[in-house]
Amino acid sequence: MPELPEVESLRLGLNKKIIGSKILNVKIIKPKLVSSNGTLRKVNKKKEEEFKKEIIGERIKQIKRVAKNLIIELNNEKILIVHLKMTGQLVFESKRTHPKSFPKYLGKDTSEQSEEEVGFKKERIIGGHPIIKSFTDDLPNKHTAIIFNLSNGTLFYNDVRMFGYVLYFKNILEAKNHGLFKNIGLDPFDKNFTLKYFKEGLGKTNRNLKATLLDQKIVTGCGNIYTDEVCFASKVLPKRNCKSLKEKDIENIYKNIKTILKSAIKHGGSSVSDYLLADWSRGNYAREHKVYGKGGEKCSVCKNILERKIIAGRATVYCKHCQK
Ligand SMILES: [Zn+2]
Repeated sequence: MPELPEVESLRLGLNKKIIGSKILNVKIIKPKLVSSNGTLRKVNKKKEEEFKKEIIGERIKQIKRVAKNLIIELNNEKILIVHLKMTGQLVFESKRTHPKSFPKYLGKDTSEQSEEEVGFKKERIIGGHPIIKSFTDDLPNKHTAIIFNLSNGTLFYNDVRMFGYVLYFKNILEAKNHGLFKNIGLDPFDKNFTLKYFKEGLGKTNRNLKATLLDQKIVTGCGNIYTDEVCFASKVLPKRNCKSLKEKDIENIYKNIKTILKSAIKHGGSSVSDYLLADWSRGNYAREHKVYGKGGEKCSVCKNILERKIIAGRATVYCKHCQK
């Protein structure tokens, strides 16, 4: 599942390509995804028709993000909200060719070659679960759920297990009333995410730090990877009850949430198992991980062996010597 830095990286990649594009047509192959969110959803014909009718002809103004929801803003305040959940993928394929921008992993400089020699006709921007695995894989494929024909290319939403959603709303207020952003805390880069706010939030819970950060109600952005990294950098055990945290601990956690997530976005995220970035590379923040996925290995600071335990229902790695 992509964490916040991976979704932010996709957002930045798409924003460079699709701002100003007009939605010319929409093909809904799997109507459940536009009908509602949640696992018990049913196909809603009315929603499906509204989805098409309201967005065809509109232009994309920009893409914003609330937690891991991508908010595609259209003209007239209309919005589409996309959440990739476990196995969703977005692929934008341009109409024009951009041989110079092909990824370096191809191993040769293609800038002097013709399109035929290069073997590619179109540029793709992708993010999410790696449903298509190469630059030349056919699209659409059997996992393609929605196809947006845009004035400058095509946007595909693919999903294997269909936990994700792509929902239309008249405006952001309607989405809020729908309950989509209920219980979502502040973005770590929101100006309202202050130390005072964070302290007050932690002071209200009796649970452990890992569970509190994972549930996103105070601050968003720390999934399993970044929660472990933040706890290690802050020298605090993830199983600590929030009420037991000292002033200094809270300050460190607050500071590290911001710096670690900022750095992960800069590196394009972590791509630990199966997450591809917008420019087709894999995020390289995984190289910076100090504890995540390293249970049984030596701690980079004290050289003792890192512990791996299930905390808050998730595999958690920490150093019992460095973290208190
Ligand atoms: Zn250590």
